[in-house]
Amino acid sequence: MNKEDLWQAVLAQIQFNVSQANFSTWFKNTEISKKDGGKIVVSVSNSFVKEWLENKYNKLLMKTFHSIDSGIKEVEYIVGKTEIKKEKRKETPQVMPVKSESQLDFQGLQINKETGLNPKYTFDSFIIGPFNELPHAAALAVVKNPGLVYNPLFIYGGVGLGKTHLLQSVGNEIVKNFSDKKVKYISSEKFTSEVITAIREQGVKKNSIETFKEKYRSVDVLIIDDVQFLSGKEKTQEEFFHIFNILYENNKQIIISSDRPPKSIMYLAERLRSRFEGGMTADISMPDIETRIAILKAKAQEKEVSFSEEIYQYIAESIKTNIRELEGALNRIIIFQKIDNKDITLEIAQKLLKTLINSPQKILTPKKIIQSVADFFDLKEREILAPSRKKEVVKPRQIAMYLLREELKSSFPFIGRKFNGKDHTTALHSYKKISLEIQKNKKLEEEIILIKERILSS
Ligand code: ADP
Ligand code: MG
Repeated sequence: MNKEDLWQAVLAQIQFNVSQANFSTWFKNTEISKKDGGKIVVSVSNSFVKEWLENKYNKLLMKTFHSIDSGIKEVEYIVGKTEIKKEKRKETPQVMPVKSESQLDFQGLQINKETGLNPKYTFDSFIIGPFNELPHAAALAVVKNPGLVYNPLFIYGGVGLGKTHLLQSVGNEIVKNFSDKKVKYISSEKFTSEVITAIREQGVKKNSIETFKEKYRSVDVLIIDDVQFLSGKEKTQEEFFHIFNILYENNKQIIISSDRPPKSIMYLAERLRSRFEGGMTADISMPDIETRIAILKAKAQEKEVSFSEEIYQYIAESIKTNIRELEGALNRIIIFQKIDNKDITLEIAQKLLKTLINSPQKILTPKKIIQSVADFFDLKEREILAPSRKKEVVKPRQIAMYLLREELKSSFPFIGRKFNGKDHTTALHSYKKISLEIQKNKKLEEEIILIKERILSS
């Protein structure tokens, strides 16, 4: 077995032994970078994951390796570079005509620094059905006449339903058709952090805010994704409002996405809300079963694999509300087929997808946040909630408080009460502390991103 296949076989087993959230947090973007006799070197994306695999999963990994190849005696973890990965891949002949997941991820790294666009998102690969016909048509109209038809174009819809794909496709298509137009795609989280950086640097470099503004004023097409994250960020909203106006007055195209319509975004300045509503608003709803099947078939074809009708049918009937999850399910059976090299039956597919499909509806609750944080730090929920001052508990507790505020906009008194009737000032203090620290501490930032991913996938 070559090292790619060995790793896929190990992952397939691990997947049955750990929760879906843990699996995606700790095992995605990993690979075996070296197999040297009885020693395996696993490369991971950052030192944080390395630490966790070493401390928490080493035993499970050893056992799994051993069950597949009893000659394996030692596993080492290193933080690897993706570039190296790519070169190495070329040397090894492709065994199967499918791309591995990490190769697929690799496309994600081709993001153009200037425009923020990822070439993998195109109209060609965007499947249209009754659920997204309108936003798709509006997007095409904008591509033909940027700045002149629907301005702003505001697209909203639930998680994983294709907003980013559509926005990026518009950007890519405009770049292709109008070489003179400057396109800029940015997530509102990144935009927010640019505003914060500009403000912070203002003291040192006199004109950092001006430079920031200038950068955005000079674009012809501004695409801003997930604008709901601007909620409550007053200063960022203010900067965005000014940029919006300048672009708008100069007939520059603005395209916005959000997970909800403008009127439902909380803590959004009224003047910004009315700007958002001033152009074309189109929503992406849920894809019907025929479209879901069509999407699965198209993705399978893209990856040069195919499955029986009943499998497509089964996946499409089981996953109704999220195209990303549809893809995830498909990828999982693709990987399995790759290892097993046999046709996947409906029974196997059902077994493989059990953990994905039986997951409950995703409603974010305080409990879910607290549980995810506890789980992440390997603590019990009650340990986080109890008034202990132990260092191992204090930080996770502060993070939980921070996330309750950030993700649910819970009030400080509410947060305080959740944590054993603590005073609201404790909650406020925790929130401020983490908010500040996250800006300076890369590791903390990383941790919080991973916890958020977990919360979303729990
Ligand atoms: P959102 O931004 O709404 O959360 P994404 O645009 O990231 O969703 O889409 C999630 C995944 O589903 C992406 O891999 C995307 O390519 C795929 N996808 C979404 N909508 C479609 C579609 N209509 N046709 C094909 N793939 C789609
Ligand atoms: Mg998105």
